[in-house]
Amino acid sequence: MKQINNETSKRSMHGAGVDIKNPSKSKDINSKNLCQLNIGNDHYIVANNFQDKLWFHIRVYEKRLDNTTYPTKKGIVLDLEKWTKLLTWYVDDVDEAIKEYDDDNKDVALHIHLGCNYYVSLKQGYPVVNIRRWFLPCDLGITLTFRQWGKLQDVMVVLQDMMGSEMDKVSFCELSADHQNQMGVIECINCNPNGTMMLGGGFCPTMRSRLMRELNSKKQ
Ligand SMILES: [Zn+2]
Repeated sequence: MKQINNETSKRSMHGAGVDIKNPSKSKDINSKNLCQLNIGNDHYIVANNFQDKLWFHIRVYEKRLDNTTYPTKKGIVLDLEKWTKLLTWYVDDVDEAIKEYDDDNKDVALHIHLGCNYYVSLKQGYPVVNIRRWFLPCDLGITLTFRQWGKLQDVMVVLQDMMGSEMDKVSFCELSADHQNQMGVIECINCNPNGTMMLGGGFCPTMRSRLMRELNSKKQ
């Protein structure tokens, strides 16, 4: 098994219900469907290769009369960059927000921008993790229970094992030299897709603290 040098490798498996021992996977990164894993309630994670790019679907499937399944429109697809960013930067923040949610004394309002209007959010009163693309006048996305979120993390670890080398190649614009000043961020279509970010505004607090950690670890 490939050694994973990422902090996520230490994460324990949440397990129940995800067939992580025997995912329908292929070692050939170019094959179309790399795996399809159930995270409960007909929600599936499907990794595939389309037009030479890796895509990660989190999607509701429905059953035909003959018990075979087919994908519905309910769901979201993340590219390799957003998937890797969620896995390597933000999983702990979501876990922390879930812990806080379970503590009645704390108000939770998590709002993470993965880029290009893709958000991961969680708020008090709704025990779910939302992964959505906000695109006025409508939004696309998926709502996961905390249990499904745990299973999604198991799948992320499995997929990191399968295609970690692809993930290692991902570069994030947030870490590029031109993002060290705010003008670079404001002019970035990924970070500021609607052109609404102003001077003096900048990154959301979660992203800012994450970036500081990333930059500090780079300097060491
Ligand atoms: Zn950017």
